[in-house]
Amino acid sequence: MTQAFAQLGLHDALLRALAELHYQTPSPIQTQAIPHLLAGKNVLGQAQTGTGKTAAFGLPMLQTIPIGTPHVHALVLTPTRELATQVGNALFQYGKYLGVRVLPIYGGQSYERQFRRLEKGVDVVVATPGRLLDLLQQKMIDLSHVRYLVLDEADEMLKMGFIDDVKAIIGQLPSDRQTALFSATMPNEIRAIIAQFIPDAVHVAVQQETMTVQQIEQRYYLVPADAKVAALTRLLETEDMQSALIFTRTRAASAELADTLIKRGYMASSISGDLSQDAREAVLRRFRNGDLPILVATDVVARGVDIPQVSHVFNFDMPQNDEDYVHRIGRTGRAGRSGTAITLVTPREVRQLQFLERFIKQSIPMAQLPRLEDIRARREALFLKKLEEMIISGEKDLGKQALEAILNAGYNLEDVATAALQLARADELEAPIEHIKTVHLAEARPDRDRRKSPAATSRRDGRPSSGGRERPVEEGMVRLKIDLGRNGNVRPADVVSTVAVLGGIQGKRIGAIRIQDTHTYFEVPEDAVKRVLTGMKNSKLCGKPITVVRA
Ligand code: ADP
Ligand code: MG
Repeated sequence: MTQAFAQLGLHDALLRALAELHYQTPSPIQTQAIPHLLAGKNVLGQAQTGTGKTAAFGLPMLQTIPIGTPHVHALVLTPTRELATQVGNALFQYGKYLGVRVLPIYGGQSYERQFRRLEKGVDVVVATPGRLLDLLQQKMIDLSHVRYLVLDEADEMLKMGFIDDVKAIIGQLPSDRQTALFSATMPNEIRAIIAQFIPDAVHVAVQQETMTVQQIEQRYYLVPADAKVAALTRLLETEDMQSALIFTRTRAASAELADTLIKRGYMASSISGDLSQDAREAVLRRFRNGDLPILVATDVVARGVDIPQVSHVFNFDMPQNDEDYVHRIGRTGRAGRSGTAITLVTPREVRQLQFLERFIKQSIPMAQLPRLEDIRARREALFLKKLEEMIISGEKDLGKQALEAILNAGYNLEDVATAALQLARADELEAPIEHIKTVHLAEARPDRDRRKSPAATSRRDGRPSSGGRERPVEEGMVRLKIDLGRNGNVRPADVVSTVAVLGGIQGKRIGAIRIQDTHTYFEVPEDAVKRVLTGMKNSKLCGKPITVVRA
Protein backbone atom coordinates (compact mmCIF):
# COMPACT_ATOMS: atom_id res chain seq x y z
CA MET A 1 0.00 0.00 0.00
CA THR A 2 2.70 2.44 0.98
CA GLN A 3 5.08 0.76 -1.41
CA ALA A 4 5.94 4.00 -3.10
CA PHE A 5 7.07 5.36 0.25
CA ALA A 6 9.04 2.15 0.93
CA GLN A 7 10.85 2.69 -2.34
CA LEU A 8 12.09 6.01 -1.06
CA GLY A 9 13.94 4.05 1.61
CA LEU A 10 11.72 4.62 4.63
CA HIS A 11 11.59 2.09 7.46
CA ASP A 12 8.65 -0.05 8.50
CA ALA A 13 7.76 1.90 11.62
CA LEU A 14 7.25 5.00 9.50
CA LEU A 15 5.44 3.12 6.73
CA ARG A 16 2.97 1.74 9.25
CA ALA A 17 2.18 5.21 10.52
CA LEU A 18 1.76 6.49 6.95
CA ALA A 19 -0.60 3.64 6.13
CA GLU A 20 -2.74 4.60 9.09
CA LEU A 21 -2.81 8.18 7.88
CA HIS A 22 -3.87 6.92 4.43
CA TYR A 23 -0.87 8.41 2.73
CA GLN A 24 -0.55 6.23 -0.33
CA THR A 25 1.78 7.97 -2.69
CA PRO A 26 4.41 10.53 -1.87
CA SER A 27 3.74 14.04 -3.10
CA PRO A 28 6.24 15.52 -5.60
CA ILE A 29 8.18 17.46 -2.96
CA GLN A 30 8.37 14.30 -0.85
CA THR A 31 9.60 12.19 -3.76
CA GLN A 32 12.27 14.75 -4.48
CA ALA A 33 13.43 15.65 -1.00
CA ILE A 34 13.26 12.43 1.00
CA PRO A 35 16.05 10.47 -0.76
CA HIS A 36 18.49 13.39 -0.45
CA LEU A 37 17.68 13.92 3.20
CA LEU A 38 18.00 10.20 3.92
CA ALA A 39 21.39 10.33 2.23
CA GLY A 40 22.43 12.96 4.75
CA LYS A 41 22.44 15.92 2.36
CA ASN A 42 21.32 19.44 3.08
CA VAL A 43 18.21 20.36 1.18
CA LEU A 44 16.67 23.58 0.00
CA GLY A 45 13.02 23.02 -0.87
CA GLN A 46 10.80 25.43 -2.70
CA ALA A 47 7.13 24.56 -2.64
CA GLN A 48 3.79 26.13 -1.88
CA THR A 49 1.50 25.48 1.03
CA GLY A 50 -0.29 22.16 0.99
CA THR A 51 2.36 20.25 -0.93
CA GLY A 52 3.31 17.99 1.97
CA LYS A 53 6.50 19.60 3.20
CA THR A 54 6.13 18.38 6.77
CA ALA A 55 6.49 14.73 5.78
CA ALA A 56 9.18 15.67 3.26
CA PHE A 57 11.49 16.82 6.05
CA GLY A 58 9.87 14.95 8.93
CA LEU A 59 10.10 11.36 7.73
CA PRO A 60 13.85 11.44 7.01
CA MET A 61 14.37 13.33 10.26
CA LEU A 62 12.61 10.67 12.29
CA GLN A 63 14.55 7.95 10.55
CA THR A 64 17.88 9.70 11.04
CA ILE A 65 17.96 10.92 14.62
CA PRO A 66 18.42 8.75 17.69
CA ILE A 67 15.21 8.51 19.66
CA GLY A 68 14.78 8.03 23.38
CA THR A 69 18.07 9.62 24.51
CA PRO A 70 18.17 12.45 27.06
CA HIS A 71 19.06 14.96 24.33
CA VAL A 72 17.24 17.03 21.74
CA HIS A 73 18.46 15.83 18.36
CA ALA A 74 16.19 17.65 15.96
CA LEU A 75 14.95 21.21 15.78
CA VAL A 76 12.25 22.63 13.52
CA LEU A 77 11.75 26.40 13.40
CA THR A 78 8.37 27.68 12.24
CA PRO A 79 6.97 31.21 11.94
CA THR A 80 3.77 30.86 14.02
CA ARG A 81 2.48 29.00 17.00
CA GLU A 82 -0.25 27.40 14.89
CA LEU A 83 2.40 25.96 12.64
CA ALA A 84 4.50 24.84 15.58
CA THR A 85 1.62 22.83 17.03
CA GLN A 86 0.54 21.58 13.65
CA VAL A 87 4.00 20.42 12.61
CA GLY A 88 4.54 19.01 16.10
CA ASN A 89 1.36 16.97 15.82
CA ALA A 90 2.25 15.71 12.37
CA LEU A 91 5.73 14.63 13.49
CA PHE A 92 4.23 12.89 16.48
CA GLN A 93 1.85 11.00 14.19
CA TYR A 94 4.57 10.07 11.72
CA GLY A 95 6.83 8.89 14.53
CA LYS A 96 4.15 7.17 16.55
CA TYR A 97 5.71 3.70 16.23
CA LEU A 98 9.15 5.03 17.00
CA GLY A 99 7.94 6.46 20.28
CA VAL A 100 9.17 9.91 19.37
CA ARG A 101 8.80 12.67 21.94
CA VAL A 102 7.97 15.98 20.29
CA LEU A 103 7.74 19.29 22.10
CA PRO A 104 6.24 22.39 20.50
CA ILE A 105 7.62 25.58 22.01
CA TYR A 106 6.08 28.97 21.45
CA GLY A 107 5.33 32.19 23.27
CA GLY A 108 2.34 32.31 25.55
CA GLN A 109 3.00 28.89 27.10
CA SER A 110 4.26 28.67 30.62
CA TYR A 111 8.03 28.42 30.89
CA GLU A 112 7.77 25.88 33.71
CA ARG A 113 5.80 23.42 31.66
CA GLN A 114 8.21 23.64 28.77
CA PHE A 115 11.10 23.25 31.14
CA ARG A 116 9.57 20.21 32.84
CA ARG A 117 8.96 18.52 29.50
CA LEU A 118 12.53 19.24 28.46
CA GLU A 119 13.85 17.75 31.68
CA LYS A 120 11.92 14.56 31.11
CA GLY A 121 13.53 14.20 27.70
CA VAL A 122 12.50 15.35 24.24
CA ASP A 123 13.70 14.13 20.85
CA VAL A 124 12.33 16.84 18.58
CA VAL A 125 11.63 20.48 19.36
CA VAL A 126 9.33 22.45 17.06
CA ALA A 127 9.59 26.11 17.96
CA THR A 128 8.92 29.67 17.00
CA PRO A 129 12.24 31.55 16.97
CA GLY A 130 11.44 34.23 19.57
CA ARG A 131 10.53 31.97 22.44
CA LEU A 132 13.26 29.47 21.63
CA LEU A 133 15.90 32.17 21.75
CA ASP A 134 14.49 33.22 25.12
CA LEU A 135 14.90 29.73 26.47
CA LEU A 136 18.39 29.46 25.03
CA GLN A 137 19.46 32.71 26.61
CA GLN A 138 18.10 31.60 29.96
CA LYS A 139 19.93 28.32 29.51
CA MET A 140 16.69 26.42 29.92
CA ILE A 141 17.31 24.37 26.80
CA ASP A 142 20.36 22.56 25.53
CA LEU A 143 20.67 22.35 21.77
CA SER A 144 24.25 21.12 21.67
CA HIS A 145 23.16 17.70 20.40
CA VAL A 146 21.00 18.91 17.52
CA ARG A 147 22.02 17.18 14.36
CA TYR A 148 18.98 17.85 12.18
CA LEU A 149 17.69 21.39 11.67
CA VAL A 150 14.65 22.42 9.64
CA LEU A 151 13.69 25.97 8.79
CA ASP A 152 10.06 25.67 7.78
CA GLU A 153 8.38 28.50 5.85
CA ALA A 154 11.56 30.52 5.97
CA ASP A 155 10.07 33.39 3.98
CA GLU A 156 7.29 33.74 6.54
CA MET A 157 9.80 33.85 9.37
CA LEU A 158 11.50 36.64 7.49
CA LYS A 159 8.21 38.51 7.05
CA MET A 160 7.48 38.21 10.73
CA GLY A 161 10.79 39.74 11.63
CA PHE A 162 12.34 36.57 13.02
CA ILE A 163 15.34 36.45 10.77
CA ASP A 164 17.89 37.70 13.30
CA ASP A 165 16.55 35.31 15.91
CA VAL A 166 16.87 32.50 13.40
CA LYS A 167 20.47 33.41 12.70
CA ALA A 168 21.26 33.66 16.40
CA ILE A 169 19.78 30.21 16.97
CA ILE A 170 21.62 28.60 14.08
CA GLY A 171 24.81 30.15 15.43
CA GLN A 172 24.42 28.15 18.62
CA LEU A 173 23.89 24.78 16.96
CA PRO A 174 26.65 22.23 16.30
CA SER A 175 28.10 22.78 12.86
CA ASP A 176 28.14 19.09 11.93
CA ARG A 177 24.43 18.95 11.47
CA GLN A 178 22.10 18.40 8.57
CA THR A 179 19.90 21.31 7.51
CA ALA A 180 16.73 21.54 5.44
CA LEU A 181 15.24 24.89 4.52
CA PHE A 182 11.76 25.25 3.05
CA SER A 183 10.39 28.42 1.61
CA ALA A 184 7.66 29.21 -0.88
CA THR A 185 9.57 32.22 -2.17
CA MET A 186 13.26 33.07 -2.24
CA PRO A 187 13.77 36.69 -1.21
CA ASN A 188 17.35 37.93 -0.95
CA GLU A 189 17.54 37.61 2.82
CA ILE A 190 16.71 33.92 2.50
CA ARG A 191 19.30 33.47 -0.21
CA ALA A 192 21.81 35.09 2.12
CA ILE A 193 21.00 32.61 4.87
CA ILE A 194 21.38 29.75 2.43
CA ALA A 195 24.72 31.09 1.25
CA GLN A 196 25.94 31.50 4.82
CA PHE A 197 24.65 28.34 6.45
CA ILE A 198 23.90 25.76 3.78
CA PRO A 199 25.88 26.67 0.67
CA ASP A 200 26.03 23.03 -0.38
CA ALA A 201 22.27 22.37 -0.28
CA VAL A 202 20.60 20.31 -2.98
CA HIS A 203 17.83 22.40 -4.48
CA VAL A 204 14.45 20.74 -4.97
CA ALA A 205 11.39 22.59 -6.21
CA VAL A 206 7.83 21.89 -7.11
CA GLN A 207 6.94 23.91 -10.14
CA GLN A 208 4.04 26.26 -10.30
CA GLU A 209 2.38 23.96 -12.86
CA THR A 210 1.69 21.28 -10.31
CA MET A 211 -0.44 23.62 -8.33
CA THR A 212 -4.17 23.58 -8.59
CA VAL A 213 -4.79 27.10 -9.85
CA GLN A 214 -6.42 25.69 -12.96
CA GLN A 215 -9.31 24.07 -11.10
CA ILE A 216 -10.19 27.30 -9.40
CA GLU A 217 -12.82 29.58 -10.78
CA GLN A 218 -11.45 33.06 -10.35
CA ARG A 219 -13.37 36.29 -10.74
CA TYR A 220 -13.27 39.80 -9.43
CA TYR A 221 -15.74 42.52 -8.58
CA LEU A 222 -15.03 46.19 -8.95
CA VAL A 223 -16.40 47.94 -5.88
CA PRO A 224 -16.01 51.33 -4.23
CA ALA A 225 -13.68 51.13 -1.25
CA ASP A 226 -16.47 51.99 1.14
CA ALA A 227 -18.79 49.30 -0.19
CA LYS A 228 -16.62 46.26 0.27
CA VAL A 229 -18.57 44.91 3.22
CA ALA A 230 -21.84 45.41 1.39
CA ALA A 231 -20.45 43.63 -1.67
CA LEU A 232 -19.11 40.76 0.40
CA THR A 233 -22.46 40.35 2.13
CA ARG A 234 -24.26 40.10 -1.19
CA LEU A 235 -21.84 37.47 -2.37
CA LEU A 236 -22.08 35.47 0.84
CA GLU A 237 -25.83 35.44 0.36
CA THR A 238 -25.79 34.24 -3.20
CA GLU A 239 -22.77 31.97 -3.58
CA ASP A 240 -23.21 28.24 -3.18
CA MET A 241 -20.78 28.08 -0.35
CA GLN A 242 -19.74 25.35 2.05
CA SER A 243 -16.92 27.14 3.74
CA ALA A 244 -15.09 30.34 3.11
CA LEU A 245 -11.73 31.78 3.97
CA ILE A 246 -11.73 35.56 3.80
CA PHE A 247 -8.45 37.42 3.61
CA THR A 248 -7.86 40.89 4.97
CA ARG A 249 -4.68 42.91 4.99
CA THR A 250 -4.33 43.44 8.73
CA ARG A 251 -5.23 41.51 11.83
CA ALA A 252 -7.31 44.40 13.09
CA ALA A 253 -9.29 44.35 9.87
CA SER A 254 -9.81 40.57 10.25
CA ALA A 255 -11.28 41.00 13.69
CA GLU A 256 -13.45 43.87 12.61
CA LEU A 257 -14.77 42.14 9.52
CA ALA A 258 -15.59 39.00 11.50
CA ASP A 259 -17.46 41.21 13.98
CA THR A 260 -19.43 42.87 11.23
CA LEU A 261 -20.35 39.55 9.66
CA ILE A 262 -21.50 38.17 13.00
CA LYS A 263 -23.69 41.20 13.45
CA ARG A 264 -25.19 40.49 10.06
CA GLY A 265 -26.09 37.01 11.14
CA TYR A 266 -23.18 35.01 9.71
CA MET A 267 -21.26 32.39 11.63
CA ALA A 268 -17.80 33.85 11.27
CA SER A 269 -14.67 34.21 13.29
CA SER A 270 -11.21 35.62 12.85
CA ILE A 271 -8.00 34.17 14.09
CA SER A 272 -5.97 37.04 15.33
CA GLY A 273 -3.17 37.62 17.74
CA ASP A 274 -5.60 38.95 20.31
CA LEU A 275 -7.06 35.51 20.91
CA SER A 276 -5.46 33.25 23.47
CA GLN A 277 -3.75 30.18 22.11
CA ASP A 278 -6.61 27.98 23.27
CA ALA A 279 -9.20 30.20 21.68
CA ARG A 280 -7.30 30.22 18.40
CA GLU A 281 -7.09 26.48 18.36
CA ALA A 282 -10.76 26.17 19.21
CA VAL A 283 -11.65 28.43 16.29
CA LEU A 284 -9.49 26.46 13.90
CA ARG A 285 -10.93 23.19 15.11
CA ARG A 286 -14.48 24.43 14.55
CA PHE A 287 -13.54 25.62 11.10
CA ARG A 288 -11.92 22.30 10.21
CA ASN A 289 -14.92 20.35 11.50
CA GLY A 290 -17.26 22.44 9.45
CA ASP A 291 -18.98 23.91 12.52
CA LEU A 292 -17.76 27.35 11.57
CA PRO A 293 -18.33 28.15 7.89
CA ILE A 294 -16.46 31.45 7.65
CA LEU A 295 -12.95 32.21 8.78
CA VAL A 296 -11.37 35.62 8.39
CA ALA A 297 -7.58 35.80 8.42
CA THR A 298 -4.47 37.55 7.23
CA ASP A 299 -1.87 35.92 5.00
CA VAL A 300 0.54 35.44 7.84
CA VAL A 301 -1.97 33.86 10.18
CA ALA A 302 -3.47 31.63 7.51
CA ARG A 303 -0.19 30.50 6.05
CA GLY A 304 0.56 26.95 6.93
CA VAL A 305 -2.55 26.45 9.00
CA ASP A 306 -3.94 23.10 8.00
CA ILE A 307 -7.36 23.67 6.48
CA PRO A 308 -8.60 20.67 4.50
CA GLN A 309 -10.36 22.57 1.74
CA VAL A 310 -12.68 25.52 1.44
CA SER A 311 -15.22 26.05 -1.28
CA HIS A 312 -14.52 29.78 -1.44
CA VAL A 313 -11.62 32.10 -0.94
CA PHE A 314 -12.48 35.78 -0.73
CA ASN A 315 -9.82 38.39 -1.16
CA PHE A 316 -11.60 41.07 0.80
CA ASP A 317 -8.41 43.10 0.64
CA MET A 318 -6.19 42.51 -2.33
CA PRO A 319 -3.00 40.64 -1.47
CA GLN A 320 0.13 42.69 -0.91
CA ASN A 321 2.01 40.73 -3.51
CA ASP A 322 1.27 38.35 -6.35
CA GLU A 323 2.66 35.28 -4.65
CA ASP A 324 0.30 35.76 -1.74
CA TYR A 325 -2.55 35.65 -4.22
CA VAL A 326 -1.47 32.24 -5.40
CA HIS A 327 -1.13 31.03 -1.80
CA ARG A 328 -4.50 32.36 -0.87
CA ILE A 329 -6.46 30.86 -3.71
CA GLY A 330 -4.55 27.60 -3.30
CA ARG A 331 -6.74 27.13 -0.25
CA THR A 332 -9.58 26.16 -2.48
CA GLY A 333 -9.72 23.70 -5.35
CA ARG A 334 -7.55 21.24 -3.43
CA ALA A 335 -7.40 17.54 -4.05
CA GLY A 336 -9.28 17.59 -7.30
CA ARG A 337 -12.21 19.58 -5.93
CA SER A 338 -13.24 22.72 -7.66
CA GLY A 339 -13.21 25.99 -5.85
CA THR A 340 -14.03 29.63 -6.26
CA ALA A 341 -11.72 32.55 -5.63
CA ILE A 342 -13.30 35.96 -5.49
CA THR A 343 -11.40 39.22 -5.31
CA LEU A 344 -12.83 42.60 -4.41
CA VAL A 345 -11.00 45.27 -6.33
CA THR A 346 -11.35 48.97 -5.63
CA PRO A 347 -10.87 51.47 -8.44
CA ARG A 348 -7.40 52.33 -7.34
CA GLU A 349 -6.38 48.68 -7.29
CA VAL A 350 -7.21 48.02 -10.91
CA ARG A 351 -3.62 48.42 -12.02
CA GLN A 352 -2.42 46.04 -9.32
CA LEU A 353 -4.91 43.54 -10.66
CA GLN A 354 -3.45 43.87 -14.12
CA PHE A 355 0.03 43.12 -12.78
CA LEU A 356 -1.38 40.15 -10.94
CA GLU A 357 -2.94 38.78 -14.11
CA ARG A 358 0.41 39.05 -15.82
CA PHE A 359 2.06 37.19 -12.95
CA ILE A 360 -0.35 34.26 -12.98
CA LYS A 361 -0.51 34.32 -16.78
CA GLN A 362 -4.27 34.22 -16.72
CA SER A 363 -6.85 36.88 -17.00
CA ILE A 364 -9.31 37.09 -14.17
CA PRO A 365 -12.78 37.85 -15.44
CA MET A 366 -14.80 40.67 -13.95
CA ALA A 367 -18.27 39.82 -12.71
CA GLN A 368 -21.31 41.86 -11.72
CA LEU A 369 -22.48 41.86 -8.15
CA PRO A 370 -25.78 40.19 -7.42
CA ARG A 371 -28.58 42.73 -7.70
CA LEU A 372 -31.28 43.29 -5.12
CA GLU A 373 -33.66 41.14 -7.19
CA ASP A 374 -31.13 38.33 -7.27
CA ILE A 375 -30.79 38.38 -3.52
CA ARG A 376 -34.52 38.50 -2.94
CA ALA A 377 -35.03 35.63 -5.36
CA ARG A 378 -32.33 33.67 -3.58
CA ARG A 379 -33.92 34.29 -0.18
CA GLU A 380 -37.28 33.24 -1.58
CA ALA A 381 -35.87 30.03 -2.99
CA LEU A 382 -34.07 29.16 0.24
CA PHE A 383 -37.16 29.84 2.27
CA LEU A 384 -39.33 27.61 0.09
CA LYS A 385 -36.72 24.90 0.28
CA LYS A 386 -36.65 25.08 4.08
CA LEU A 387 -40.42 25.00 4.18
CA GLU A 388 -40.51 21.97 1.93
CA GLU A 389 -37.90 20.19 4.00
CA MET A 390 -39.92 20.82 7.09
CA ILE A 391 -43.10 19.50 5.52
CA ILE A 392 -41.29 16.37 4.34
CA SER A 393 -39.33 15.77 7.56
CA GLY A 394 -42.50 15.84 9.64
CA GLU A 395 -40.77 17.79 12.43
CA LYS A 396 -43.56 20.19 13.11
CA ASP A 397 -45.12 19.22 16.43
CA LEU A 398 -44.97 22.74 17.79
CA GLY A 399 -46.66 24.08 14.69
CA LYS A 400 -49.40 21.47 14.85
CA GLN A 401 -50.57 22.49 18.30
CA ALA A 402 -50.66 26.14 17.36
CA LEU A 403 -52.52 25.34 14.17
CA GLU A 404 -55.20 23.35 15.96
CA ALA A 405 -55.68 26.17 18.40
CA ILE A 406 -56.08 28.80 15.76
CA LEU A 407 -58.33 26.70 13.51
CA ASN A 408 -60.52 26.05 16.54
CA ALA A 409 -60.77 29.79 16.93
CA GLY A 410 -62.48 29.83 13.55
CA TYR A 411 -59.86 31.12 11.08
CA ASN A 412 -59.50 29.54 7.69
CA LEU A 413 -56.52 27.47 6.79
CA GLU A 414 -55.29 29.57 3.89
CA ASP A 415 -55.29 32.81 5.88
CA VAL A 416 -53.47 31.12 8.73
CA ALA A 417 -50.85 29.68 6.41
CA THR A 418 -50.26 33.02 4.67
CA ALA A 419 -49.94 34.88 7.94
CA ALA A 420 -47.62 32.26 9.37
CA LEU A 421 -45.34 32.42 6.37
CA GLN A 422 -45.22 36.18 6.51
CA LEU A 423 -44.35 36.02 10.17
CA ALA A 424 -41.69 33.40 9.61
CA ARG A 425 -40.04 35.50 6.98
CA ALA A 426 -40.21 38.85 8.70
CA ASP A 427 -36.64 38.77 9.95
CA GLU A 428 -34.98 37.41 6.94
CA LEU A 429 -36.86 39.59 4.49
CA GLU A 430 -35.89 42.65 6.39
CA ALA A 431 -32.22 41.80 6.63
CA PRO A 432 -30.81 44.90 5.05
CA ILE A 433 -29.36 44.86 1.55
CA GLU A 434 -27.03 47.78 1.33
CA HIS A 435 -26.93 50.01 -1.67
CA ILE A 436 -23.73 49.81 -3.70
CA LYS A 437 -22.68 52.47 -6.14
CA THR A 438 -21.67 50.99 -9.49
CA VAL A 439 -18.17 51.73 -10.68
CA HIS A 440 -17.29 51.23 -14.31
CA LEU A 441 -13.93 50.02 -15.38
CA ALA A 442 -13.49 53.11 -17.52
CA GLU A 443 -13.86 55.34 -14.46
CA ALA A 444 -11.47 53.25 -12.50
CA ARG A 445 -8.41 54.98 -13.82
CA PRO A 446 -5.81 54.14 -11.26
CA ASP A 447 -3.75 57.31 -11.62
CA ARG A 448 -6.57 59.73 -11.26
CA ASP A 449 -8.01 57.81 -8.41
CA ARG A 450 -4.81 57.66 -6.48
CA ARG A 451 -5.40 61.20 -5.34
CA LYS A 452 -6.88 60.95 -1.93
CA SER A 453 -10.59 61.40 -1.90
CA PRO A 454 -12.27 61.10 1.45
CA ALA A 455 -14.62 58.41 0.19
CA ALA A 456 -11.86 56.14 -1.00
CA THR A 457 -9.45 56.27 1.89
CA SER A 458 -9.61 53.63 4.52
CA ARG A 459 -9.34 54.57 8.11
CA ARG A 460 -6.47 53.44 10.24
CA ASP A 461 -8.53 50.66 11.73
CA GLY A 462 -9.24 49.18 8.33
CA ARG A 463 -12.88 50.16 8.36
CA PRO A 464 -14.11 51.80 5.25
CA SER A 465 -14.85 55.39 5.99
CA SER A 466 -17.48 57.42 4.29
CA GLY A 467 -18.97 60.80 4.37
CA GLY A 468 -21.86 61.16 6.73
CA ARG A 469 -25.09 61.88 5.00
CA GLU A 470 -24.43 61.65 1.33
CA ARG A 471 -24.55 57.88 1.17
CA PRO A 472 -28.01 56.69 0.24
CA VAL A 473 -30.03 55.00 2.90
CA GLU A 474 -30.99 51.43 2.16
CA GLU A 475 -34.43 50.81 0.84
CA GLY A 476 -36.95 50.49 3.64
CA MET A 477 -34.50 51.82 6.20
CA VAL A 478 -34.37 55.12 8.04
CA ARG A 479 -31.19 56.78 9.19
CA LEU A 480 -30.97 58.00 12.78
CA LYS A 481 -28.29 60.03 14.46
CA ILE A 482 -26.74 59.88 17.92
CA ASP A 483 -24.86 62.91 19.22
CA LEU A 484 -21.85 60.91 20.31
CA GLY A 485 -19.13 59.41 18.16
CA ARG A 486 -15.45 58.63 18.23
CA ASN A 487 -15.02 61.38 20.79
CA GLY A 488 -16.94 59.11 23.17
CA ASN A 489 -15.06 55.96 22.07
CA VAL A 490 -18.19 54.58 20.46
CA ARG A 491 -17.68 51.29 18.62
CA PRO A 492 -20.14 49.57 16.28
CA ALA A 493 -20.75 46.83 18.82
CA ASP A 494 -21.83 49.46 21.41
CA VAL A 495 -24.33 50.90 18.98
CA VAL A 496 -25.76 47.52 18.08
CA SER A 497 -26.20 46.39 21.64
CA THR A 498 -27.66 49.67 22.86
CA VAL A 499 -30.06 50.07 19.96
CA ALA A 500 -31.08 46.43 20.13
CA VAL A 501 -31.73 46.44 23.86
CA LEU A 502 -33.29 49.88 24.31
CA GLY A 503 -34.99 50.00 20.93
CA GLY A 504 -36.29 46.48 21.27
CA ILE A 505 -35.19 45.28 17.84
CA GLN A 506 -32.97 42.43 16.80
CA GLY A 507 -29.33 43.31 16.25
CA LYS A 508 -29.38 41.90 12.76
CA ARG A 509 -32.16 44.26 11.74
CA ILE A 510 -29.91 47.22 12.39
CA GLY A 511 -28.42 48.43 9.13
CA ALA A 512 -25.33 50.42 8.32
CA ILE A 513 -23.59 52.10 11.23
CA ARG A 514 -21.19 54.95 10.69
CA ILE A 515 -19.25 56.46 13.49
CA GLN A 516 -18.02 60.00 12.93
CA ASP A 517 -15.95 62.16 15.24
CA THR A 518 -18.79 63.75 17.15
CA HIS A 519 -21.81 61.70 16.18
CA THR A 520 -22.94 58.31 14.93
CA TYR A 521 -25.36 57.36 12.19
CA PHE A 522 -27.26 54.12 12.17
CA GLU A 523 -30.10 52.72 10.16
CA VAL A 524 -33.18 50.85 11.31
CA PRO A 525 -36.19 49.47 9.43
CA GLU A 526 -38.98 52.00 8.94
CA ASP A 527 -41.42 50.10 11.11
CA ALA A 528 -39.01 50.19 14.04
CA VAL A 529 -38.17 53.89 14.02
CA LYS A 530 -40.80 54.93 16.53
CA ARG A 531 -39.92 52.19 18.93
CA VAL A 532 -36.23 52.93 18.73
CA LEU A 533 -36.69 56.68 19.20
CA THR A 534 -38.97 56.14 22.18
CA GLY A 535 -36.84 53.43 23.69
CA MET A 536 -33.70 55.49 23.42
CA LYS A 537 -35.08 58.64 24.95
CA ASN A 538 -32.93 59.78 27.90
CA SER A 539 -30.54 56.89 27.35
CA LYS A 540 -26.80 56.52 27.57
CA LEU A 541 -24.16 55.16 25.26
CA CYS A 542 -20.70 54.27 26.50
CA GLY A 543 -21.64 55.85 29.80
CA LYS A 544 -22.63 59.20 28.33
CA PRO A 545 -26.12 60.65 27.99
CA ILE A 546 -27.22 60.80 24.36
CA THR A 547 -29.96 62.19 22.17
CA VAL A 548 -31.23 60.22 19.19
CA VAL A 549 -32.92 61.97 16.29
CA ARG A 550 -33.76 61.31 12.66
CA ALA A 551 -30.73 62.20 10.56
P1 ADP B 1 2.78 22.03 3.62
O1 ADP B 1 3.67 22.07 4.81
O2 ADP B 1 3.51 21.91 2.32
O3 ADP B 1 1.79 23.15 3.60
P2 ADP B 1 1.63 19.75 4.92
O4 ADP B 1 2.82 18.98 5.24
O5 ADP B 1 1.01 20.54 6.02
O6 ADP B 1 1.90 20.71 3.68
O7 ADP B 1 0.56 18.78 4.26
C1 ADP B 1 -0.68 19.25 3.80
C2 ADP B 1 -1.75 18.18 3.98
O8 ADP B 1 -1.51 17.08 3.11
C3 ADP B 1 -1.78 17.60 5.38
O9 ADP B 1 -3.13 17.44 5.74
C4 ADP B 1 -1.08 16.27 5.24
O10 ADP B 1 -1.54 15.34 6.21
C5 ADP B 1 -1.45 15.86 3.84
N1 ADP B 1 -0.42 15.02 3.17
C6 ADP B 1 0.90 15.26 3.12
N2 ADP B 1 1.53 14.34 2.40
C7 ADP B 1 0.59 13.47 1.95
C8 ADP B 1 0.61 12.29 1.14
N3 ADP B 1 1.72 11.81 0.63
N4 ADP B 1 -0.57 11.67 0.90
C9 ADP B 1 -1.72 12.18 1.41
N5 ADP B 1 -1.81 13.28 2.17
C10 ADP B 1 -0.67 13.93 2.45
MG1 MG C 1 4.01 23.29 6.28
